Amino acid sequence: MSIASNIQSFNDLLKNTQARLIAVSKTKPNEDLLAAYKTGQRAFGENKVQELARKSAELPNDIEWHMIGHLQRNKVKYLAPFIHLIHGVDSLRLLQEINKQAAKHDRVINCLLQVYIADEETKFGLSEEEVKELLRSEAFKELNNIKVVGLMGMATNTDDQTQIRQEFRSLKTLFEELKTFSSSNVEMNEISMGMTGDYQIACEEGSTMVRIGSAIFGARNYH
Ligand SMILES: *Cc1c(COP(=O)(O)O)cnc(C)c1O
Repeated sequence: MSIASNIQSFNDLLKNTQARLIAVSKTKPNEDLLAAYKTGQRAFGENKVQELARKSAELPNDIEWHMIGHLQRNKVKYLAPFIHLIHGVDSLRLLQEINKQAAKHDRVINCLLQVYIADEETKFGLSEEEVKELLRSEAFKELNNIKVVGLMGMATNTDDQTQIRQEFRSLKTLFEELKTFSSSNVEMNEISMGMTGDYQIACEEGSTMVRIGSAIFGARNYH
């Protein structure tokens, strides 16, 4: 299967869902991204700041770049001029830095709050309580150069479909609850959930963005 036909298949699969495709191109060469681009794909996800910044400089500038990995505060400045959406925001301090760098470029940067839904040891993601606390805080309300447009979550890496479904459902439930939350810098529209292994369940549970890497570009070679 070619990259172009894989993209085509996903577009067909997603037609009857609410989700759109974020092509996760981390570790892949520019030629692979261009093969996807030629089919009309414009949303690409990367998880390393340096790689994302380099590719954005080398590839067509109507690409929509999504930062899907963990973002360190000292690297926000490299993405601030152009990033379309930051998926993995997991602290107020990070939001404050994004806000500061966005202001320098006279932009409003869209962000998703990463919520910890898995039953796994991981450093990243906010609990439901922490999400609510963050959104209610006075410090958050002052941030005019960011907008929280939704939530992002990753399910446990397991074969237990019931568990995966429950985890996605808990994210959707929180999302619906937060939709009633009113603030000028919050507009809950997006739920980023689902990857190659679990996108079908994620779509059934209301995902609006699936982040697909290996099913499009093939297995990744880390070296
Ligand atoms: C790598 C990555 C993906 C894509 O993973 P695949 O299993 O290759 O589809 C999705 N989301 C995040 C946060 C990732 O780091």
